[in-house]
Amino acid sequence: MILPVIKYGHPILRQKGARIEAVTPEIRRLIADMFETMNAANGVGLAAQQVAHALQLTVLDVSEASAERPSTLELDGKPADVVKFMPLVLINPEVKPVNEPVSGGEGCLSFPEIYAEISRPESVDVSALNAKGERIAFRCGGLLAKAIQHEVDHLNGILFIDRMDKKTKAELKPELDELQFITKAELAKTKKKS
Ligand code: ZN
Repeated sequence: MILPVIKYGHPILRQKGARIEAVTPEIRRLIADMFETMNAANGVGLAAQQVAHALQLTVLDVSEASAERPSTLELDGKPADVVKFMPLVLINPEVKPVNEPVSGGEGCLSFPEIYAEISRPESVDVSALNAKGERIAFRCGGLLAKAIQHEVDHLNGILFIDRMDKKTKAELKPELDELQFITKAELAKTKKKS
């Protein structure tokens, strides 16, 4: 089922996700719905917060984008095939930077039509549980590293606007204010109805 993607201005985007203690049938259903939602929106990553669940859960798939925006992957210290590693489910993920930040373009499904240069470490070490609840660990770089850092930020209530430089954020302010206004107006409408 395709779920509505919540937009900037919705309070859930600012909530830190709760840890997932067990991969229940409900969590499996949510994971399937998140993939369907992400694919329908042509996204490379989606966090549970973006479909109104404040949980430590994100789904990713960089395989379609791999030709234009490459990624690197290392499993047990050896280079591995990124496309074969997709799609990816990360539960309770932990991310550690392994090198210096680099700047690159980013968008977000909760901020339609808004893009900006964001600086993040080029490579990261990731540890998480997969959809079966098994521990996985890997090192990645390029688009995958960027996408994972963007999604893990969501799981902690952090948005890419928080990582923009002041000048970029100031330039985008009218669009951001408008988006926030529309989201809050829609929320107020739904509250009145219920
Ligand atoms: Zn996002």
